[in-house]
Amino acid sequence: MTGVAPSLRGETAVLATMHGKQRAIAPLLAHFLGLRVVVPEDFDTDRFGTFSRDVARTGTPLETARAKVAAGFARVPDARLGLASEGSFGPHPQVPFVSWGSELVVLVDRATGLELVGRHEAPARHFAHAQVDSVDAALAFAARVGFPRQGVIVMGVENDQPSPAVALAKDAHDDDTLIAAVRRALAACGAASLETDMRAHRNPQRMRCIRRATVDLLRAWRSPCPACARPGFVVSARLPGRPCGGCGAPTRQVLADERRCAGCGHLERHLRHDGPADPAHCDACNP
Ligand SMILES: [Zn+2]
Ligand SMILES: [Zn+2]
Repeated sequence: MTGVAPSLRGETAVLATMHGKQRAIAPLLAHFLGLRVVVPEDFDTDRFGTFSRDVARTGTPLETARAKVAAGFARVPDARLGLASEGSFGPHPQVPFVSWGSELVVLVDRATGLELVGRHEAPARHFAHAQVDSVDAALAFAARVGFPRQGVIVMGVENDQPSPAVALAKDAHDDDTLIAAVRRALAACGAASLETDMRAHRNPQRMRCIRRATVDLLRAWRSPCPACARPGFVVSARLPGRPCGGCGAPTRQVLADERRCAGCGHLERHLRHDGPADPAHCDACNP
């Protein structure tokens, strides 16, 4: 192994967050890697984009997480390691009526240039929205998503779309403050747009998903490249082409997993040996 320290014990990692993510991330990294995780005070991550659309997100989640890491290093210049997490939510890529959530946690080691990414993907029952025209309908939505433990954001409505410019209340914490915010939106727009607050400290299920992404990051740390021992030798691509059980044509289902070392370029491909694909997934048999 060249350049990559075998241990990070006792090193300082700056975590760029303003939404309490250290509760999910710091204990695991302290226990398993011996890292001392610090959070800069008054750190504003909202400038990297917000879920409530008042600041647009630009770039991929990984790019945003890297930008947060860089901002964390700027605030804590003597930290050797930088940490950030980023979530994204939307319809499942193949099943549009299922909400899908994706969390990633990035660790950057300035001493070696090592970057590790932990990921967790799952159905996002904690990602929901509704347009309502009454306080009762708003309270029904709030009850369904688990308010007040799960936060709810109230926005105005313009042209049938959520409009934070007209009305925006992020910090309702009980029925009274929620009802007041809904009444303001109803008075201004005749309707109110509600959605689950996706900020980690207001979203318990998201906090659990960030913890799982951190466990995945630890798994990457413990997966050394067989050629150079650099950590992070994990599946980096899934190659399609599993043959159809009906006609033998390659399908879009995964045939093999690929691991590529970011340090030395060592490449391994492992066939999955799952047997043939169900012809239901074959574009030739079942176009
Ligand atoms: Zn390698
Ligand atoms: Zn086929």
